[in-house]
Amino acid sequence: MAIKPPSLYFSFIFMDSLFSSAIHQWYKINKRDLPWRNLKDPYIIWLSEIILQQTRVAQGLPYFNKFVAAYPTVFDLAHAPQDEVLRLWQGLGYYSRARNLHGTAQVIVSKYNGIFPSSYSHLLKLKGVGQYTAAAIASFAFDEDVAVVDGNVYRVLARYFGIETDINSGKGQKDFKQLAQQLLPKGLAAEHNQGIMEFGALQCVPVSPDCSICPLNETCVAFLKKEVSQLPIKINKTKIKQRYFSYHVFLKDRQLFLHKRETNDIWQGLYNFHLLEGQDFVSPTEGVELFVSKEYNHILTHQRIKAKFFVIDAESIEKLPDFLSPFSEMEIENLPKPVLISKFLNDYASKIFN
Ligand code: SF4
Repeated sequence: MAIKPPSLYFSFIFMDSLFSSAIHQWYKINKRDLPWRNLKDPYIIWLSEIILQQTRVAQGLPYFNKFVAAYPTVFDLAHAPQDEVLRLWQGLGYYSRARNLHGTAQVIVSKYNGIFPSSYSHLLKLKGVGQYTAAAIASFAFDEDVAVVDGNVYRVLARYFGIETDINSGKGQKDFKQLAQQLLPKGLAAEHNQGIMEFGALQCVPVSPDCSICPLNETCVAFLKKEVSQLPIKINKTKIKQRYFSYHVFLKDRQLFLHKRETNDIWQGLYNFHLLEGQDFVSPTEGVELFVSKEYNHILTHQRIKAKFFVIDAESIEKLPDFLSPFSEMEIENLPKPVLISKFLNDYASKIFN
């Protein structure tokens, strides 16, 4: 008697359980020993998740250690001055994360007496906590059966199940979330979620994963169909914006004039020189120009910034803009500022302050 092939439904169920147990086994052997692993403290987990968003572990780890040392509890973070938090964050980018981190710590202290909400739906109400972070805290700290879906999870699922839906589309996000939830073994959310993320970070990496050693290679659809490099499908609709920044740097008595950026734009809350932006560089029309820096190219996720610094003798200007204040070299060192400004100061400090 001929054996009938398994139904599609049956094969998916089979793939689901095979996938989850293989991930579990792999994770037990291969997981990295990271300081936020095996912890149940929601504050520390939240801190690590916010720091690691859009950041590689190697880059985020020193920041995590600095933050835990400076602010061991949510009360310490809530009571810190914002400038101090931003200065500690300097270099990590996406400064709105730091501002939200600080603001949310204050809300947790004032509204929740320092106790983190313990469910996915309540965590989602916190500023700066999206679906991914809420799922991570709820499952890692409180063992709630909720699946996390980050870039690693999208990639692993798209490849293993051969899903060709655009992960940036509404449908893609809904379908992947549903599948991730379906794959979650009840009561094992913390282990399972961290397992898939780690598998994506170390084994099923974005470019040229070594499928020959992968424990899932016999059933991985993308591997069997030779589509690993094509998945996941990610249609990027965000246009890259080109910007020209002309910094007018006023110098007087070995002090430079800066102000805190309040505009609803990149680097809000950080200190900046007087900035003019246009379709090209804008040279000063007034005052004695002492020198002009080289051109800097600064790359952000959706922006390319070309910047030049025009250093001007402040004594030769009739009236400086009111919002600027003078700072010494030492004071500037302690201010939170964009990496672009730090680079300029590193390159030209000897010319400016000597
Ligand atoms: S076989 Fe390759 S593509 Fe498939 S899950 Fe493993 S590493 Fe990823």
